[in-house]
Formats: sequence, structure tokens, C-alpha cells
Amino acid sequence: MTNSDQHSETDIYEHARERMLREHLRERGITDPRVFHAMRRVPREEFVTPDNKRYAYNDCALPIDCQQTISQPYTVAFMCQAAQLTGNEKVLEIGCGSGYGAAVLSLLAREVHTIERIPELAEQARVKLNRLGYHNVHVYTDDGTLGVPQAAPFDAIIVTAGAKELPQPYVDQLNEGGRIIIPIGGEYTGQTMCRFTLRQGHLDEENLGGFAFVPLIGEFGWDR
Ligand code: SAM
Repeated sequence: MTNSDQHSETDIYEHARERMLREHLRERGITDPRVFHAMRRVPREEFVTPDNKRYAYNDCALPIDCQQTISQPYTVAFMCQAAQLTGNEKVLEIGCGSGYGAAVLSLLAREVHTIERIPELAEQARVKLNRLGYHNVHVYTDDGTLGVPQAAPFDAIIVTAGAKELPQPYVDQLNEGGRIIIPIGGEYTGQTMCRFTLRQGHLDEENLGGFAFVPLIGEFGWDR
């Protein structure tokens, strides 16, 4: 590949990313400037499989290895915005998958801990995040329904797989004032994005609308 080919490929992705910000995020109600900034800076094409690079900025989830998915850009932006991050938080992401969501979060928070139950995906994401310079992200391989007690407490917990109910470990690992963003509902469909906020020891629950995710599998999730 020549230098000019590389430049034009970079230009194509930049152009597609700008279109994604405009058409898929701004027009659908994303307003947080910090979320726009982060979504503009993270190259989603690096987190999809090679044969899907050309679709990297389409507004859809895409398949990654191990029958899992990289979330739709709008969903990533929506969950980040819902977490109300200002830059000084310690965040836990459940479901590292490709590592894309963790990369976006790493630009929105001080420290990101992300956990993936499939070792192969966790290792790929760890290598990629390190290569791309997201050094405030820590990747774990384990059952994320248990949270990450050794790194708790967290200011925000973002769950990128569909739960059947709110796992108690997340509540136990949340700081006062902290938020849990989690889709809850059926195993593959009919999930509602919920935001739980811990205020003076009580959890306030808000319904943020319908979404569809792969299942959250584990001790406090679905069986496998
Ligand atoms: N955040 C990811 C990204 O940006 O690519 C998208 C993740 S994908 C929609 C959901 C991920 O959750 C899958 O990789 C799946 O293996 C993982 N997962 C499901 N149950 C889990 C659990 N109990 N602990 C950790 N990860 C889990």
C-alpha cells in the first residue's frame, strides 16, 4: 500500500465517522459534547473484524469472534451519555467484547475496568487497547455478573449484555451517587435500558427505552 492509499483510507474513515456523529448520534438525541469528542477520536474500524471494516461506521452492531457483537455506535454513545461522566470517574464495563466501548469510556473517565467472560475476546481486546494507547483501561477475564470486587467501588457501571435482573454485586460495588446503566428483560429481546442511581443508600430507577443485546451469562445472569 502506498502512502497516498493510506491517506485516502484514513480520509474515508474520518469522513464516515463525521457522518456517524451527525446522522446517527446528533439526530437521534445524543447531546453530550464529551461523548461526541470521544466517539470522534476512537477508530471503530480497528475494533471490527477485517471483513467488516467497510461497515465500521454503519449504525449497527457487527459480529466479532466467538459469536459475539460489537455494539452499535448509537448504543455506545447512549450508554456513555446516560452514565453522566465528567472525567474523574472510575468506571466498570461488563462485556468488553471488541474493546471498542472501553476505548470510548477511557476518554470519558479517569480509569476504566472492563471484564469479559470469553478469554479469547478479552485477550484480543487487551492487546488491541494496549497497541492503540488506551493505557487507563484494565481488562479482566471472568464472570462479570460478580463485578470486579478487587477494583471496587465504582462511580459508574455499564453493562453491555442483557440481564434478567440487576445483579446484586453491582449495587454492592457502587459509590454513593454512582450510576448503573443496564439493559434488563428477555434473553435476546425486549430489554429495557435502566439507569439505577444510588442516593443515600437507596436505588432510584429510570427507564431509558428499549434495546436488544446478547445475553449476560453468569452466576447472576442467564444460564449457559
Ligand atoms: N462492549 C462491547 C464492545 O464494545 O465491543 C460489546 C459487547 S457485546 C454486545 C457483549 C459482551 O458481553 C460479549 O462479548 C459477551 O461475551 C460478554 N458477556 C456476556 N456475559 C458476560 C459476563 N457474565 N461477564 C463478562 N462478559 C460477559
